[in-house]
Amino acid sequence: MPHIPGPAYRAIPGPSVMPEEVLRAMHRPAPNIYGGDLEVLTAGLIPDLRRVARTDGAATIYIGNGHAAWEAALANTIAPGEAVLVPCTGRFGHGWAEMAEALGAEPQILDFGKQAPVDMDRLDAALRADKTHRIKAVLATHVDTSTSVLNDIAAMRAVLDDTGHPALLMADCIASLACDRFEMDAWGVDVMVAASQKGLMVPPGLAFVFFNARAAEKRKHMPRVSRYWDWTPRADPELFYQYFCGTAPTHHLFGLRAALDMIHAEGMEAIWTRHETLAHAIWAAADAWQEGGALRLNLANPAHRSHAVTSLSLPAPKGTELRHWVEAELGVTLGIGLGMAEPGSYAADGFFRFGHMGHVNGHMIMGLLGAVEAGLTALDVPHGRGALEAAAAVLATGGGAPRSG
Ligand SMILES: *Cc1c(COP(=O)(O)O)cnc(C)c1O
Repeated sequence: MPHIPGPAYRAIPGPSVMPEEVLRAMHRPAPNIYGGDLEVLTAGLIPDLRRVARTDGAATIYIGNGHAAWEAALANTIAPGEAVLVPCTGRFGHGWAEMAEALGAEPQILDFGKQAPVDMDRLDAALRADKTHRIKAVLATHVDTSTSVLNDIAAMRAVLDDTGHPALLMADCIASLACDRFEMDAWGVDVMVAASQKGLMVPPGLAFVFFNARAAEKRKHMPRVSRYWDWTPRADPELFYQYFCGTAPTHHLFGLRAALDMIHAEGMEAIWTRHETLAHAIWAAADAWQEGGALRLNLANPAHRSHAVTSLSLPAPKGTELRHWVEAELGVTLGIGLGMAEPGSYAADGFFRFGHMGHVNGHMIMGLLGAVEAGLTALDVPHGRGALEAAAAVLATGGGAPRSG
């Protein structure tokens, strides 16, 4: 692939764009892991992670990716033979369910397809049907990164409360944390999982599991939990190495420190507003393109869409052609379609995604949209006019600039 001068924009839904501050913080020699600054730094990360998750509960860090966070959450709470209810709105719910099954649990899947959020009536019915309370947890995906569906986690808590069902509510916020509004305690979430490489702007390699007292109580009754996955010593370590059950992920911690400093300097509310404004700019452009009859947003209803990722399609194979064109010619990388069609099939070449999570601002989004506009034109894809004007109008009124403090 020819080199494109100037900074590239990887507009993929993770790993997201890494800020210079994070990269600089990581560029240093190996630190001493036996006492000293790293211990102080790590202890300081915990309350700042809790502030991102909006919880007074426990925060634990694992060396791992999102899949590790899934496994960690299940390993501490779900014993072999126990059932979990998994409302699926795209690929990622199925992934968490497969993880549960491999651990000996019995996943019960509620499939809502690829273009709709969780329907609370069906969730209600499934919980009421479980008269003996075999279901020990609801594994909810806050934002499904394949479909870009945003689910209403607070409404799921309300259903659990209405039905009097004692199952834990677990939320996968790997794509949504620090992008879409999420309030762990206020929404009654018992366990939340996240990872470093999306809204948190740190390279892949850290997994996070947050849990409250209800989840800790369930952990106490587990027949066994492997030493590595056990969250108990990680949440309350007597010795430094227990945070990580071994050597600390040193450089990721320096990067995370820098990222959390940036996040809290901007403020959670301002971060959510910025992502909201940028998402609206993208949707405004896509609405205009859709007039041409070829391009489609996966979700017709804006209320169902995440502010972190947008799933789109063109008639196959134009989606893949567009990705290749904007990357080779203009230095913008779009996300591949995921979970929308059989991988490798002709249909799969219709789907693509925009990642707009974390370290993104208005000029990057205008650059992304401008690149796509150029690509649609170059590839003779019929598309409506005025997309960039529509996006600019959103930014002109909505602002979207981070406010400090
Ligand atoms: C990215 C993602 C995952 C998987 O994370 P990995 O780091 O690839 O293991 C799981 N769930 C959601 C919602 C995600 O966006």
